[in-house]
Amino acid sequence: MEYASDEARRLVQTMRGCHHGRTWAVYCRDCEIVGLRQTYADSIRRARNAERRLLAMGEVGNPPDVRADVRAADEIERLRAELAELRRFRKAIMDYDSNLYDALADSDAAHKGEGE
Ligand SMILES: [Zn+2]
Repeated sequence: MEYASDEARRLVQTMRGCHHGRTWAVYCRDCEIVGLRQTYADSIRRARNAERRLLAMGEVGNPPDVRADVRAADEIERLRAELAELRRFRKAIMDYDSNLYDALADSDAAHKGEGE
């Protein structure tokens, strides 16, 4: 085991401090980093074990991101609303076209009537 200094060795051997040379009474940033790295590595290992176990059980190993699903659902809802709006718009235009053709047809008929 490496020690930051002779003082660190003395602290560790007397169980009064950490390998970085600080007593337990004070905060040690290096100890926190060591702990966080350990937590990080353990979390990855546990996630991999869980994924392997899920695959062995015939489940999807890497479940879809729930939040991504929720976002996708919102987007789908928005697109559906936009599509419904476009359909209403298209119907209005088709109704307008239909009325216009009817009006033109009536007008043509009226002109033909005048001509005959
Ligand atoms: Zn430390």
